[in-house]
Amino acid sequence: MPDADHPEFPAFHVIHDASRRDRLPDLATRKDRLATLRRMVVENRDDIARTIDADFGGRPRHETELLEIVPLLNALRHSARHLKRWMRDQRRHVAWPFQPGAAWVRHEPLGVVGIISPWNYPLFLALGPLVDVLAAGNRAMIKPSELTPGFSDLLQRLIARYFAADLVTVETGGVEVAQAFSALPFDHLIFTGSTEVGRKVMQAAAANLTPVTLELGGKSPAVVAPDYPLDKAARSIVLGKFTNAGQTCIAPDYVLVPEGQAEALAHALIARIEAAYPAGARKDYANIVTARHRSRLVAALDEAQAAGATLLRPAGDYGDRLPPTLVIGAPEDSLLLSEEIFGPILPLVSYRSLDEALAFINSRSRPLALYAFTNDRQARATILDGAISGGVTLNGTLLHVAQDDLPFGGVGDSGIGAYHGRAGFRRMSHARAVYKPGLFNAFEALGPPFGKLADLTIR
Ligand code: NAD
Repeated sequence: MPDADHPEFPAFHVIHDASRRDRLPDLATRKDRLATLRRMVVENRDDIARTIDADFGGRPRHETELLEIVPLLNALRHSARHLKRWMRDQRRHVAWPFQPGAAWVRHEPLGVVGIISPWNYPLFLALGPLVDVLAAGNRAMIKPSELTPGFSDLLQRLIARYFAADLVTVETGGVEVAQAFSALPFDHLIFTGSTEVGRKVMQAAAANLTPVTLELGGKSPAVVAPDYPLDKAARSIVLGKFTNAGQTCIAPDYVLVPEGQAEALAHALIARIEAAYPAGARKDYANIVTARHRSRLVAALDEAQAAGATLLRPAGDYGDRLPPTLVIGAPEDSLLLSEEIFGPILPLVSYRSLDEALAFINSRSRPLALYAFTNDRQARATILDGAISGGVTLNGTLLHVAQDDLPFGGVGDSGIGAYHGRAGFRRMSHARAVYKPGLFNAFEALGPPFGKLADLTIR
């Protein structure tokens, strides 16, 4: 493939050629690549946390550690531990007309995978996909977000220092670079970002018949059933919602609460927020990534307030940070209840029956995550069966994403395809079918002509 085809990305040609030349890296090579990635992150974790903090204009170091670095290292350990088994050929059943014979599936690398990542967890969402890409024996080009420019530059330097230029590279830049990047003829493209941009990425990829994995956003509901203790639910919801100031793709977007319990839940939430972020705890609470994102959130709050909604805030000095805000009585068609919030604002919506709560969820796009708080088996089944979502945590929030052996992904508007662990290995592999007849092969022995075979097989 000549350079001239992609003059703005000379690296593509280099990586593409290498992927065709060295098509099937063995287990040791792949494990070595995963170990290099681990070393890169461990040796530079201070720089990484400091840079992300600066890009956000303030993000607590422990959030970067706990929600980016630790899960990435866990994913690396999990893949390295199980890779040998994942790579093994898998025997498959052979139907009688084709016996004796053997059939099996080989999981082979796809080649070059493009990774487009967002700003909200800039490390984990750029390098989490890379774990699966490398485990499956592929090479990668990464395009991180322009909204965390310090981190994107750091990532570019680190990858260049730790990885060969024909194995992994990082391309930085804004939307124009991202558009050109998504038009490269990758063997697979994994995009994490908004649903709106996901549609554009899929269109660009379609021109090359490049398959896509789309990890998108949406409004993830938390349903509190009537039996569940409100203070326990509040604890989990506060963790899921206000970590990273709500800038989490699987943060509970809104809470469905039984009629008559909204105020009690609001009080429990406020108490929990005040305990988690005591007065003056600004360094424990993240900033909103840009002034533009902040204005969007403030406008959504203003709209709800103008329509008569009640806003509740915890005590404490949040300074220039956007404080955690609960909203009761936001209209159904308000921005807060129709668009993904992606910030520290939590609308509470009352329901009269679980069926009504499910109808509310199902009248919206399919969410990335669903949280159900109940100890009642019947209620749990009703919620799980009644509303589809990408993933679920029961009696908690966020934690399904931390299970390395569970696929992570959306459904409908919240995404296409899943990754992490074995699911990611398979997603980044080509399941190649192989059949080998034995010495005697009934199918060939009996035909053509196929009359006799047809008599035997069509019953
Ligand atoms: P975004 O869609 O604006 O940007 C994501 C990436 O796409 C960036 O690298 C950007 O440069 C690039 N991009 C922008 N325009 C493009 C175009 N026209 N063509 C190709 N690429 C383009 O998303 P964001 O604001 O960075 O992230 C927030 C969104 O991401 C939220 O909706 C959130 O729910 C979602 N998200 C999803 C997951 C998940 O795992 N499902 C994880 C994190 C965030």
